[in-house]
Amino acid sequence: HAKSSGRSRYAVFGKEMDTILQVRRNIEQDLRAALQAKDQIQVYYQPIYSATDRKITGVEALLRWHHPKSGWISPDVFIPIAEEAGLIEKLGEQVLREACTAAINWPVGTVAVNVSAIELRNPSYAAGVAHLLLSLGMNPQKLELEMTESALTDNSGQCEQNVKALRQLGVRIALDDFGTGFSSLSRLQRLEVDRIKIDRSFIKGFGAESGDEAIVQAIVELARATGLKTTAEGVETKEQGKRLQQMGCDNLQGFLLSQPLPVSELNSLLGEGTPSHAVKGAIATT
Ligand code: C2E
Ligand code: MG
Ligand code: MG
Ligand code: MG
Repeated sequence: HAKSSGRSRYAVFGKEMDTILQVRRNIEQDLRAALQAKDQIQVYYQPIYSATDRKITGVEALLRWHHPKSGWISPDVFIPIAEEAGLIEKLGEQVLREACTAAINWPVGTVAVNVSAIELRNPSYAAGVAHLLLSLGMNPQKLELEMTESALTDNSGQCEQNVKALRQLGVRIALDDFGTGFSSLSRLQRLEVDRIKIDRSFIKGFGAESGDEAIVQAIVELARATGLKTTAEGVETKEQGKRLQQMGCDNLQGFLLSQPLPVSELNSLLGEGTPSHAVKGAIATT
């Protein structure tokens, strides 16, 4: 009896697995199509603010995919699929080009672009970025590349070499989702990054007796002591913003200040006439 019920559980599990794999295959197929089509995949931009005077200091480029049948699909879903399907390098290059082209005309300090570990493992990644910046005439210091700790715990050392080359070029490096990975403090020192983005899970715990405020305070002080800038992610309430400012956090990003915006809305927010050639939101591989 136990045996047969066990078997049927496995049968159900097998069916569910099939469904999950099928959904994944469908998303992969649709993603390939979306990359060829225009308008399905766009780059949105979320403003990043100075914690003290609440002025916009930069923007982060964030991919948005509007699927014709399924509606919005989160990058947390399609980025890993793009990585496994071998589509991430093409996608990453398109986002970078789009964001830099747009940002040249924006009165902001930096444009931040997320980079996948797979992109960083390509030995010619840094050279590709250098070439793009040169061809656009963009100041490398205006570009910030965001990567996670896991992207930098790569055994080959290739990611670190790219990071080194990018920094020599003047490109800024930010450690994204900081606090969720396994970086040791000594490793943080060796990685030579410019900025730490404190993961939003810590900000969420403010006010509760979770110890999250103490952790964030410690991160901010560590960053200060080692000459790094800090950005708090996922700032949703006035209280969180105020506490972070008191702690000495440099920059704030979150729904309290602004959602990620389509390029036209960001242009209005920045309040100036951006030449129309720079404001095409859609990306498509060519
Ligand atoms: P991330 O780089 O950590 O980006 C921050 C995420 O937090 C974004 O989610 C943003 O919309 C969200 N967020 C911002 N403010 C708030 C807030 O106040 N509350 C909450 N709950 N969330 C907030 P999004 O856009 O869904 O992106 C998810 C992740 O997908 C990103 O996390 C990044 O890792 C990845 N991603 C997005 N675009 C790209 C891309 O062009 N390339 C790569 N490789 N990854 C990307
Ligand atoms: Mg990011
Ligand atoms: Mg993050
Ligand atoms: Mg994230």
